[in-house]
Amino acid sequence: MRTVAEHQAIVAGLISAPASRRVPLADAAGRVLAEDLRAARPLPAFDNSAMDGYAVLAADIATAQASQPVPLPVAADIPAGRVDGPALKPGTAHRIMTGAPMPEGADTVVQLEATDGGTDTVTVLESRSPGTHVRRAGEDVEAGEVVLTAGTRLGPAQLGLLAALGEPEVSVVPPLKVLVLSTGSELVEPGKPLLHGQIHESNGVMLAVAIRQAGAEAEQFHFVADDVAEFHSALDSRLAQVDLVVTSGGVSAGAYEVVKDALTGQGIEFVKVAMQPGMPQGAGMFSGVPVVTLPGNPVSALVSFEVFLRPALRAAMGFGDAARPVVQAPLTESLQSPAGRRQFRRGFLDRVSGKVRPIGPPGSHFLRWLAASDCLIDLDEEITELAAGAPVPVWILD
Ligand code: AMP
Ligand code: MG
Repeated sequence: MRTVAEHQAIVAGLISAPASRRVPLADAAGRVLAEDLRAARPLPAFDNSAMDGYAVLAADIATAQASQPVPLPVAADIPAGRVDGPALKPGTAHRIMTGAPMPEGADTVVQLEATDGGTDTVTVLESRSPGTHVRRAGEDVEAGEVVLTAGTRLGPAQLGLLAALGEPEVSVVPPLKVLVLSTGSELVEPGKPLLHGQIHESNGVMLAVAIRQAGAEAEQFHFVADDVAEFHSALDSRLAQVDLVVTSGGVSAGAYEVVKDALTGQGIEFVKVAMQPGMPQGAGMFSGVPVVTLPGNPVSALVSFEVFLRPALRAAMGFGDAARPVVQAPLTESLQSPAGRRQFRRGFLDRVSGKVRPIGPPGSHFLRWLAASDCLIDLDEEITELAAGAPVPVWILD
Protein backbone atom coordinates (compact mmCIF):
# COMPACT_ATOMS: atom_id res chain seq x y z
CA MET A 1 0.00 0.00 0.00
CA ARG A 2 1.05 3.54 -0.74
CA THR A 3 1.43 5.98 2.14
CA VAL A 4 -0.61 9.15 2.28
CA ALA A 5 2.55 11.21 1.79
CA GLU A 6 3.52 9.20 -1.30
CA HIS A 7 0.12 9.66 -2.92
CA GLN A 8 0.09 13.35 -1.96
CA ALA A 9 3.38 13.77 -3.81
CA ILE A 10 2.07 11.92 -6.87
CA VAL A 11 -1.09 14.03 -7.08
CA ALA A 12 0.90 17.24 -6.51
CA GLY A 13 3.30 16.22 -9.27
CA LEU A 14 0.44 15.90 -11.77
CA ILE A 15 -0.96 19.39 -11.38
CA SER A 16 1.07 22.21 -12.85
CA ALA A 17 0.69 25.95 -12.50
CA PRO A 18 -1.62 27.63 -15.00
CA ALA A 19 -0.01 30.29 -17.22
CA SER A 20 -0.26 33.73 -15.69
CA ARG A 21 -2.81 36.14 -17.09
CA ARG A 22 -3.44 39.90 -16.96
CA VAL A 23 -6.88 40.69 -15.56
CA PRO A 24 -8.70 43.87 -14.51
CA LEU A 25 -8.02 44.69 -10.86
CA ALA A 26 -11.51 43.79 -9.66
CA ASP A 27 -11.16 40.32 -11.17
CA ALA A 28 -7.87 39.74 -9.36
CA ALA A 29 -9.36 39.58 -5.86
CA GLY A 30 -8.16 36.50 -4.01
CA ARG A 31 -5.68 35.55 -6.73
CA VAL A 32 -1.92 35.35 -6.35
CA LEU A 33 0.32 37.96 -8.00
CA ALA A 34 2.28 36.24 -10.79
CA GLU A 35 5.32 38.53 -10.85
CA ASP A 36 7.04 41.19 -8.77
CA LEU A 37 5.32 44.50 -9.24
CA ARG A 38 7.42 47.65 -9.62
CA ALA A 39 5.87 51.07 -9.15
CA ALA A 40 5.80 52.92 -12.47
CA ARG A 41 5.48 56.20 -10.58
CA PRO A 42 5.97 57.55 -7.09
CA LEU A 43 3.31 57.85 -4.44
CA PRO A 44 2.39 60.57 -3.76
CA ALA A 45 3.10 61.68 -7.30
CA PHE A 46 3.66 65.31 -6.22
CA ASP A 47 4.15 67.26 -3.00
CA ASN A 48 0.70 67.92 -1.61
CA SER A 49 -1.08 69.20 1.44
CA ALA A 50 -1.99 66.84 4.28
CA MET A 51 -4.47 69.35 5.72
CA ASP A 52 -7.10 71.88 4.81
CA GLY A 53 -5.36 75.19 5.51
CA TYR A 54 -2.87 77.61 3.99
CA ALA A 55 0.33 76.98 2.08
CA VAL A 56 2.96 79.48 3.25
CA LEU A 57 6.66 79.97 3.70
CA ALA A 58 7.60 78.90 7.21
CA ALA A 59 9.88 81.93 7.46
CA ASP A 60 6.90 84.27 6.91
CA ILE A 61 5.06 82.94 9.98
CA ALA A 62 8.08 82.30 12.22
CA THR A 63 6.93 84.87 14.79
CA ALA A 64 3.23 83.98 14.76
CA GLN A 65 1.52 83.26 18.08
CA ALA A 66 -1.95 83.90 19.48
CA SER A 67 -0.87 87.16 21.11
CA GLN A 68 1.04 88.20 17.99
CA PRO A 69 -0.79 86.88 14.89
CA VAL A 70 0.68 87.29 11.40
CA PRO A 71 -1.66 88.49 8.65
CA LEU A 72 -0.98 87.36 5.07
CA PRO A 73 -2.90 88.16 1.88
CA VAL A 74 -4.52 85.07 0.33
CA ALA A 75 -3.22 85.14 -3.25
CA ALA A 76 -4.74 81.90 -4.59
CA ASP A 77 -7.19 79.14 -3.83
CA ILE A 78 -6.06 75.56 -4.47
CA PRO A 79 -8.73 72.87 -4.22
CA ALA A 80 -7.74 69.23 -4.71
CA GLY A 81 -7.48 68.55 -8.43
CA ARG A 82 -6.32 72.05 -9.44
CA VAL A 83 -3.57 71.57 -12.01
CA ASP A 84 -2.62 75.17 -12.82
CA GLY A 85 -1.94 76.67 -9.37
CA PRO A 86 0.48 79.61 -9.46
CA ALA A 87 3.74 79.79 -7.51
CA LEU A 88 3.62 81.31 -4.02
CA LYS A 89 5.17 84.75 -3.64
CA PRO A 90 6.91 85.36 -0.31
CA GLY A 91 4.70 87.28 2.10
CA THR A 92 1.48 85.68 0.79
CA ALA A 93 -0.57 82.58 1.55
CA HIS A 94 -2.54 80.18 -0.72
CA ARG A 95 -5.67 78.63 0.69
CA ILE A 96 -5.14 74.90 0.09
CA MET A 97 -7.21 71.73 0.58
CA THR A 98 -6.11 68.24 1.55
CA GLY A 99 -4.52 66.48 -1.42
CA ALA A 100 -4.05 69.67 -3.46
CA PRO A 101 -0.60 70.25 -4.97
CA MET A 102 1.78 72.44 -2.96
CA PRO A 103 2.47 75.63 -4.84
CA GLU A 104 6.05 76.13 -5.90
CA GLY A 105 7.77 78.38 -3.36
CA ALA A 106 5.70 77.22 -0.37
CA ASP A 107 7.30 74.89 2.17
CA THR A 108 4.69 74.54 4.89
CA VAL A 109 0.97 74.14 5.48
CA VAL A 110 -0.64 75.75 8.47
CA GLN A 111 -3.94 74.05 9.10
CA LEU A 112 -7.22 75.93 9.12
CA GLU A 113 -7.60 75.58 12.91
CA ALA A 114 -4.41 77.61 13.53
CA THR A 115 -5.78 80.58 11.54
CA ASP A 116 -8.89 82.77 11.38
CA GLY A 117 -9.92 81.01 8.16
CA GLY A 118 -9.87 84.27 6.15
CA THR A 119 -10.34 84.24 2.37
CA ASP A 120 -8.90 87.65 1.40
CA THR A 121 -6.42 87.94 4.23
CA VAL A 122 -5.63 85.13 6.64
CA THR A 123 -4.43 85.68 10.18
CA VAL A 124 -2.00 82.95 11.24
CA LEU A 125 -1.96 82.25 14.96
CA GLU A 126 0.90 79.74 15.24
CA SER A 127 4.32 79.23 13.68
CA ARG A 128 5.25 76.05 11.80
CA SER A 129 8.59 74.50 10.96
CA PRO A 130 9.31 73.93 7.24
CA GLY A 131 7.71 70.78 5.82
CA THR A 132 4.83 70.66 8.29
CA HIS A 133 1.69 68.97 6.88
CA VAL A 134 3.33 68.42 3.51
CA ARG A 135 3.13 64.95 1.98
CA ARG A 136 6.32 64.59 0.00
CA ALA A 137 6.36 63.06 -3.48
CA GLY A 138 7.62 59.47 -3.21
CA GLU A 139 7.47 59.31 0.60
CA ASP A 140 5.06 56.35 0.39
CA VAL A 141 6.42 54.62 -2.74
CA GLU A 142 9.41 55.56 -4.84
CA ALA A 143 9.23 55.06 -8.60
CA GLY A 144 10.87 51.78 -9.62
CA GLU A 145 10.49 50.22 -6.18
CA VAL A 146 9.06 46.66 -5.89
CA VAL A 147 5.82 47.24 -3.98
CA LEU A 148 4.36 43.73 -4.16
CA THR A 149 6.29 40.53 -4.65
CA ALA A 150 5.26 37.54 -6.76
CA GLY A 151 3.15 35.17 -4.68
CA THR A 152 1.32 37.91 -2.78
CA ARG A 153 -2.35 37.18 -2.34
CA LEU A 154 -4.30 40.12 -3.73
CA GLY A 155 -6.94 41.52 -1.40
CA PRO A 156 -8.60 44.92 -1.15
CA ALA A 157 -5.52 46.75 0.16
CA GLN A 158 -3.12 45.36 -2.46
CA LEU A 159 -5.57 46.10 -5.28
CA GLY A 160 -6.12 49.61 -3.91
CA LEU A 161 -2.37 50.17 -4.00
CA LEU A 162 -2.18 49.01 -7.62
CA ALA A 163 -5.02 51.34 -8.60
CA ALA A 164 -3.28 54.24 -6.82
CA LEU A 165 -0.16 53.44 -8.83
CA GLY A 166 -2.20 53.76 -12.01
CA GLU A 167 -2.35 50.08 -12.93
CA PRO A 168 -5.67 49.07 -14.57
CA GLU A 169 -4.70 45.38 -14.73
CA VAL A 170 -2.47 42.97 -12.90
CA SER A 171 -0.78 39.70 -13.79
CA VAL A 172 -2.18 36.85 -11.69
CA VAL A 173 -2.11 33.09 -11.48
CA PRO A 174 -5.59 32.27 -12.79
CA PRO A 175 -7.78 29.55 -11.32
CA LEU A 176 -7.29 26.00 -12.56
CA LYS A 177 -10.35 24.63 -14.32
CA VAL A 178 -11.52 21.38 -12.81
CA LEU A 179 -14.12 18.99 -14.21
CA VAL A 180 -16.05 17.12 -11.53
CA LEU A 181 -17.42 13.85 -12.80
CA SER A 182 -19.52 11.67 -10.50
CA THR A 183 -20.19 8.10 -11.45
CA GLY A 184 -22.80 5.56 -10.39
CA SER A 185 -25.89 3.99 -11.96
CA GLU A 186 -27.70 4.44 -8.64
CA LEU A 187 -27.38 8.22 -8.68
CA VAL A 188 -30.34 10.54 -9.14
CA GLU A 189 -30.29 14.33 -9.19
CA PRO A 190 -31.56 15.96 -5.97
CA GLY A 191 -35.14 17.09 -6.50
CA LYS A 192 -36.05 14.06 -8.59
CA PRO A 193 -37.91 11.11 -7.07
CA LEU A 194 -36.05 7.93 -6.15
CA LEU A 195 -36.87 4.34 -6.86
CA HIS A 196 -35.90 1.82 -4.25
CA GLY A 197 -32.16 1.26 -4.67
CA GLN A 198 -31.41 4.73 -5.99
CA ILE A 199 -29.81 7.58 -4.04
CA HIS A 200 -29.50 11.30 -4.50
CA GLU A 201 -26.16 12.34 -5.89
CA SER A 202 -24.17 14.36 -3.39
CA ASN A 203 -20.47 14.22 -4.26
CA GLY A 204 -20.83 16.54 -7.24
CA VAL A 205 -21.91 19.67 -5.41
CA MET A 206 -19.67 18.83 -2.46
CA LEU A 207 -16.53 18.55 -4.56
CA ALA A 208 -17.40 21.47 -6.83
CA VAL A 209 -17.85 23.77 -3.86
CA ALA A 210 -14.69 22.47 -2.18
CA ILE A 211 -12.77 23.12 -5.41
CA ARG A 212 -14.12 26.66 -5.65
CA GLN A 213 -13.30 27.33 -2.01
CA ALA A 214 -9.78 26.17 -2.72
CA GLY A 215 -9.53 28.95 -5.31
CA ALA A 216 -10.06 26.92 -8.49
CA GLU A 217 -12.95 26.80 -10.95
CA ALA A 218 -15.21 23.77 -10.95
CA GLU A 219 -17.47 22.48 -13.65
CA GLN A 220 -19.94 20.00 -12.28
CA PHE A 221 -20.76 17.56 -15.04
CA HIS A 222 -24.02 15.72 -14.82
CA PHE A 223 -23.01 12.34 -13.48
CA VAL A 224 -22.63 9.21 -15.54
CA ALA A 225 -23.88 5.67 -15.14
CA ASP A 226 -21.50 2.78 -14.58
CA ASP A 227 -20.95 2.36 -18.27
CA VAL A 228 -17.48 2.59 -19.79
CA ALA A 229 -18.66 4.00 -23.12
CA GLU A 230 -20.80 6.63 -21.42
CA PHE A 231 -17.95 7.54 -19.10
CA HIS A 232 -15.54 7.99 -21.99
CA SER A 233 -17.95 10.06 -24.03
CA ALA A 234 -18.59 12.37 -21.03
CA LEU A 235 -14.87 12.70 -20.40
CA ASP A 236 -13.94 13.21 -24.05
CA SER A 237 -16.55 15.92 -24.51
CA ARG A 238 -14.98 18.09 -21.81
CA LEU A 239 -11.31 17.10 -21.67
CA ALA A 240 -9.97 19.85 -23.93
CA GLN A 241 -11.58 22.59 -21.82
CA VAL A 242 -10.18 21.66 -18.40
CA ASP A 243 -6.87 21.52 -16.53
CA LEU A 244 -7.83 18.63 -14.28
CA VAL A 245 -10.49 15.95 -14.02
CA VAL A 246 -11.73 14.75 -10.64
CA THR A 247 -13.98 11.71 -10.64
CA SER A 248 -15.76 10.09 -7.75
CA GLY A 249 -16.87 6.50 -7.41
CA GLY A 250 -16.07 3.44 -9.44
CA VAL A 251 -12.56 2.80 -8.16
CA SER A 252 -12.88 0.15 -5.47
CA ALA A 253 -12.55 -3.60 -5.60
CA GLY A 254 -16.04 -4.64 -6.75
CA ALA A 255 -17.46 -5.24 -10.19
CA TYR A 256 -18.92 -2.38 -12.27
CA GLU A 257 -16.07 -0.05 -11.24
CA VAL A 258 -16.52 2.21 -14.22
CA VAL A 259 -13.63 4.61 -13.63
CA LYS A 260 -11.20 1.79 -13.07
CA ASP A 261 -12.53 -0.16 -16.05
CA ALA A 262 -12.38 2.86 -18.33
CA LEU A 263 -8.98 4.20 -17.33
CA THR A 264 -6.87 1.18 -16.39
CA GLY A 265 -3.96 0.97 -18.82
CA GLN A 266 -4.72 4.49 -20.07
CA GLY A 267 -2.22 6.38 -17.93
CA ILE A 268 -4.08 6.23 -14.63
CA GLU A 269 -2.66 4.15 -11.80
CA PHE A 270 -5.17 2.67 -9.37
CA VAL A 271 -3.73 2.04 -5.93
CA LYS A 272 -4.53 1.43 -2.31
CA VAL A 273 -3.46 4.14 0.09
CA ALA A 274 -2.88 3.30 3.73
CA MET A 275 -5.56 5.60 5.04
CA GLN A 276 -9.08 5.60 6.37
CA PRO A 277 -11.36 6.72 4.90
CA GLY A 278 -10.28 6.78 1.27
CA MET A 279 -8.21 3.68 0.65
CA PRO A 280 -8.92 3.22 -3.10
CA GLN A 281 -7.36 6.06 -5.08
CA GLY A 282 -6.19 6.67 -8.59
CA ALA A 283 -4.16 9.30 -10.35
CA GLY A 284 -2.38 9.86 -13.63
CA MET A 285 -2.45 11.60 -17.00
CA PHE A 286 -5.13 10.77 -19.54
CA SER A 287 -4.70 12.31 -23.01
CA GLY A 288 -2.42 14.96 -21.51
CA VAL A 289 -4.83 15.98 -18.76
CA PRO A 290 -4.28 15.09 -15.10
CA VAL A 291 -7.00 12.87 -13.68
CA VAL A 292 -7.51 12.15 -9.98
CA THR A 293 -10.06 9.49 -9.16
CA LEU A 294 -11.62 9.68 -5.72
CA PRO A 295 -13.61 6.95 -3.99
CA GLY A 296 -17.39 7.25 -4.10
CA ASN A 297 -18.35 7.22 -0.46
CA PRO A 298 -19.07 10.86 0.32
CA VAL A 299 -16.89 11.04 3.43
CA SER A 300 -14.04 9.32 1.59
CA ALA A 301 -14.45 11.66 -1.36
CA LEU A 302 -14.29 14.84 0.69
CA VAL A 303 -11.51 13.63 2.98
CA SER A 304 -9.53 12.52 -0.08
CA PHE A 305 -10.06 15.94 -1.60
CA GLU A 306 -8.74 17.58 1.58
CA VAL A 307 -5.75 15.30 1.86
CA PHE A 308 -4.62 15.04 -1.78
CA LEU A 309 -6.28 17.58 -4.03
CA ARG A 310 -6.74 20.76 -2.05
CA PRO A 311 -3.07 21.20 -1.16
CA ALA A 312 -1.97 20.25 -4.68
CA LEU A 313 -4.41 22.65 -6.34
CA ARG A 314 -3.46 25.51 -4.06
CA ALA A 315 0.26 24.95 -4.39
CA ALA A 316 -0.08 24.91 -8.19
CA MET A 317 -2.00 28.19 -8.07
CA GLY A 318 0.76 29.76 -6.00
CA PHE A 319 -1.00 30.07 -2.66
CA GLY A 320 1.53 30.24 0.17
CA ASP A 321 -0.97 28.62 2.52
CA ALA A 322 -1.56 25.50 0.43
CA ALA A 323 -2.11 23.25 3.44
CA ARG A 324 -4.79 23.64 6.08
CA PRO A 325 -3.60 25.16 9.33
CA VAL A 326 -2.77 22.38 11.80
CA VAL A 327 -2.98 22.75 15.57
CA GLN A 328 -2.32 20.28 18.36
CA ALA A 329 -5.42 19.81 20.50
CA PRO A 330 -6.19 17.40 23.36
CA LEU A 331 -8.94 14.86 22.74
CA THR A 332 -12.14 15.15 24.78
CA GLU A 333 -12.47 11.37 24.79
CA SER A 334 -10.44 8.25 24.05
CA LEU A 335 -10.47 6.75 20.58
CA GLN A 336 -9.26 3.79 18.60
CA SER A 337 -7.66 3.72 15.20
CA PRO A 338 -6.66 0.86 12.86
CA ALA A 339 -2.98 -0.10 12.81
CA GLY A 340 -1.20 0.59 9.55
CA ARG A 341 -3.70 3.20 8.35
CA ARG A 342 -3.51 6.92 8.69
CA GLN A 343 -6.95 7.77 9.92
CA PHE A 344 -8.73 11.07 9.42
CA ARG A 345 -11.55 11.38 11.91
CA ARG A 346 -14.12 14.11 11.77
CA GLY A 347 -13.92 16.41 14.76
CA PHE A 348 -15.22 19.54 16.34
CA LEU A 349 -12.68 21.92 17.79
CA ASP A 350 -14.00 23.78 20.81
CA ARG A 351 -12.44 27.24 20.51
CA VAL A 352 -13.02 27.97 24.21
CA SER A 353 -11.54 24.85 25.80
CA GLY A 354 -9.13 24.22 22.90
CA LYS A 355 -10.11 20.54 22.98
CA VAL A 356 -11.14 18.47 19.98
CA ARG A 357 -14.15 16.18 20.08
CA PRO A 358 -14.27 13.26 17.63
CA ILE A 359 -17.61 13.37 15.83
CA GLY A 360 -19.51 10.30 14.64
CA PRO A 361 -18.27 6.84 13.82
CA PRO A 362 -15.40 6.28 11.36
CA GLY A 363 -17.65 4.80 8.59
CA SER A 364 -17.45 6.54 5.22
CA HIS A 365 -21.16 6.95 4.61
CA PHE A 366 -21.95 9.03 7.72
CA LEU A 367 -22.63 12.30 5.98
CA ARG A 368 -24.45 14.07 8.76
CA TRP A 369 -21.42 13.72 11.02
CA LEU A 370 -19.25 15.13 8.31
CA ALA A 371 -21.60 18.09 8.18
CA ALA A 372 -21.33 18.55 11.94
CA SER A 373 -17.55 18.68 11.96
CA ASP A 374 -15.20 21.59 11.45
CA CYS A 375 -11.86 19.82 11.50
CA LEU A 376 -10.09 16.58 10.72
CA ILE A 377 -8.22 14.67 13.40
CA ASP A 378 -5.07 13.26 11.81
CA LEU A 379 -4.08 9.94 13.42
CA ASP A 380 -0.77 8.47 12.37
CA GLU A 381 -0.51 4.96 10.93
CA GLU A 382 0.96 3.42 14.06
CA ILE A 383 -1.64 4.82 16.45
CA THR A 384 -4.13 2.22 17.65
CA GLU A 385 -5.45 3.81 20.81
CA LEU A 386 -5.40 7.24 22.40
CA ALA A 387 -6.60 8.27 25.84
CA ALA A 388 -8.76 11.29 26.54
CA GLY A 389 -6.51 14.33 26.88
CA ALA A 390 -3.90 13.04 24.41
CA PRO A 391 -2.83 15.77 22.01
CA VAL A 392 -3.58 15.13 18.33
CA PRO A 393 -2.90 17.12 15.14
CA VAL A 394 -6.08 18.79 13.96
CA TRP A 395 -6.59 20.21 10.45
CA ILE A 396 -8.76 23.27 10.70
CA LEU A 397 -11.29 23.37 7.85
CA ASP A 398 -13.13 26.48 6.67
P1 AMP B 1 -18.31 3.32 -5.39
O1 AMP B 1 -16.98 3.87 -5.06
O2 AMP B 1 -18.78 3.76 -6.74
O3 AMP B 1 -18.37 1.86 -5.19
O4 AMP B 1 -19.32 3.99 -4.36
C1 AMP B 1 -19.20 3.76 -2.97
C2 AMP B 1 -20.42 4.25 -2.26
O5 AMP B 1 -20.53 5.63 -2.44
C3 AMP B 1 -21.72 3.67 -2.74
O6 AMP B 1 -22.57 3.50 -1.63
C4 AMP B 1 -22.24 4.71 -3.70
O7 AMP B 1 -23.64 4.67 -3.84
C5 AMP B 1 -21.79 5.96 -3.02
N1 AMP B 1 -21.60 7.04 -3.98
C6 AMP B 1 -20.78 6.99 -5.06
N2 AMP B 1 -20.84 8.13 -5.75
C7 AMP B 1 -21.69 8.93 -5.09
C8 AMP B 1 -22.17 10.25 -5.32
N3 AMP B 1 -21.76 10.97 -6.36
N4 AMP B 1 -23.07 10.76 -4.44
C9 AMP B 1 -23.47 10.03 -3.39
N5 AMP B 1 -23.05 8.80 -3.12
C10 AMP B 1 -22.18 8.23 -3.96
MG1 MG C 1 -20.17 3.40 -7.96
